[in-house]
Amino acid sequence: MSKKTSWTLKDAEDYYGFKRWGGSHFSVDPKGCLCVHPMGDDRKIRILDVVREAASMGLRPPLTIRVQDLLRRRVIQLNEAFAKAVESEDYKGRYRGVFPIKVNQLREVVEEILDAGEPFGFGIEAGSKPELLIALALTESRDSLLICNGYKDEEFIELALMGRKLGKQTVLVVEQVSEVDAIIRMARRMGVTPHIGIRVKLATAGEGKWAESTGENAKFGLTASEIMAAVEKLRRARMTDALRLVHFHIGSQVPNIATIKKAVVEAARYYCELAKMGFPMGLLDVGGGLGIDYDGSRSAYESSMNYSMEVYARDVVAHVKQVCEAARVPVPDIVSESGRALVAPHSILIFEAVDRIARDGNAGRPPKGKPHQVIRELEAILRNKRGYDPLERFHDAKEKRDEAHSRFTLGYLSLEQRAYVDRLYWQICRDLRAQMASHADVPDELARLDSMLAEQYVCNFSVFQSLLDHWALDQLFPIAPIHRLGERPTVQATLADITCDSDGKVDDFIDLEDVRRTLALHPLRKGEPYYIGAFMVGAYQDIMGDLHNLFGRVNEAHVFLEDDEADGFYIEEAIPGYSVERILGMIQYNAEDLCRMLKRQVDRATRADSVKPREGVAMVDLYERLIRGSTYLIPEREARPRPTAKARRGR
Ligand SMILES: *Cc1c(COP(=O)(O)O)cnc(C)c1O
Repeated sequence: MSKKTSWTLKDAEDYYGFKRWGGSHFSVDPKGCLCVHPMGDDRKIRILDVVREAASMGLRPPLTIRVQDLLRRRVIQLNEAFAKAVESEDYKGRYRGVFPIKVNQLREVVEEILDAGEPFGFGIEAGSKPELLIALALTESRDSLLICNGYKDEEFIELALMGRKLGKQTVLVVEQVSEVDAIIRMARRMGVTPHIGIRVKLATAGEGKWAESTGENAKFGLTASEIMAAVEKLRRARMTDALRLVHFHIGSQVPNIATIKKAVVEAARYYCELAKMGFPMGLLDVGGGLGIDYDGSRSAYESSMNYSMEVYARDVVAHVKQVCEAARVPVPDIVSESGRALVAPHSILIFEAVDRIARDGNAGRPPKGKPHQVIRELEAILRNKRGYDPLERFHDAKEKRDEAHSRFTLGYLSLEQRAYVDRLYWQICRDLRAQMASHADVPDELARLDSMLAEQYVCNFSVFQSLLDHWALDQLFPIAPIHRLGERPTVQATLADITCDSDGKVDDFIDLEDVRRTLALHPLRKGEPYYIGAFMVGAYQDIMGDLHNLFGRVNEAHVFLEDDEADGFYIEEAIPGYSVERILGMIQYNAEDLCRMLKRQVDRATRADSVKPREGVAMVDLYERLIRGSTYLIPEREARPRPTAKARRGR
């Protein structure tokens, strides 16, 4: 950020990276508000308007906004990318994608994907019994695949084979050799021919944060000799016509296209070998891994990707074709299980910054009385700017502050004096930072002053509920204010959530290179909400959040473009977040019982005359109202008006 000229909307776009990570889907309007363009064209929705509309329906932030048209757009984009690749490579097979439901199982998300994918025969991938139960009911189309991965017991297999009986294209992907016996046994019992796939353990190593899904020690998949054993079992059972598919998954968010190419070639070799052994085959499943460019750098860095969806499709199709041609094997239909790439962009988390934790202000006046030696020394360090090596000045200040702290502990310094010492120290640090601002080569310790001096904005949400991977994996998400973008953001801040956990914070932010330790935000104004968005949170975050501190699922608004109106939208679905009562129920508390227990105590206090009857009633009312309410904070400006002293006295 340059200090010289005035701040423009373009500066905001550049600083927060809206165009880089958001492509054609985000823009800033003349009022300084962030807009989402669901279809990537001119039609747009102002996010602040959605927040206000949702609030008028009783859904205040933290709020998940699902941009359903954007979700549809991604499904169509993926299918079209593969269709184009099939055409340009003159590929003789088809693309038959499936949505790995574990990435976001919410009904409205899955239904939207299936609806948008209907013309393409888009199917579902399930990895557990509950997921398969959803998938079986929701897939009526006979043209789409239903791929079953994950560990399977007899019930899982029976359920999948029931799908075959209903005429569905259910494929049971074998993850361990023992599953082959179970499938053969259950298929015989039910009198149905199963469709079986084999997940191969590739030698190609994955890359990025989620790379452990591959290699010798992977949890899933069969080695070459295990595949030979599985194949032998099928032969002995005279079920060779069951084998249809080869599958691999090298992990999510693969940043480097070279890794994908290598894995596709290796898996295609497995496919060709099995086809040459005489199995019917027909399907090659390249799993997930298609990435999202969270930081917008288009690099092979772990929160980015060095390829587009179109390049991905073309490379997959071209390499499968090459390998099959060389082996003189007819090409398979290609299946992919892209989850993150489909659902991440559609979901936006909005939360409000409700307070700030600032550093001590300037040194101000010294305490009365004769100043202590250590104070005089710190004052000298503050005054003495010229000709003092900055790093040395910092070290000296730190040393003196440490000395003062131990003197306080030993009883030689008063609380007032210690407070003054701290203020002196922070003023020296701010001084140093200002001095370093114009330097090109800042020593590491001084570079860290930025985050040391940063303010913390306290934000009304829980990292553990809504941004779990930021905590668990240090995953970076784009984060930016959704309004006031025409104003220069002058406060360097990090974010603290409202859990009582020191890990409940965000202090790493996307940047074009490396990572930012602070984010420039706007000063908070009294009585006026300040809304911040976390973007591309539709994959995994929606589903994996936990109830740390008993903060529940957040409110949700599902938004559609309104076609008749310029820049219009409507909220089709409003889903209230978890009430306290609901959360308590999950951990075995009954709200009514709790209310009764509380009331008993109030009654006792009333009888003992330590609480007036009127007060007692109000206490029980309050308790009952809050137990039915939200788990999150209610901002001060929205708190229920308290009766004035006069009203309270009146009868
Ligand atoms: C999780 C998973 C996926 C989804 O991966 P993305 O990288 O989100 O596309 C696909 N297939 C399998 C087997 C998975 O376990």
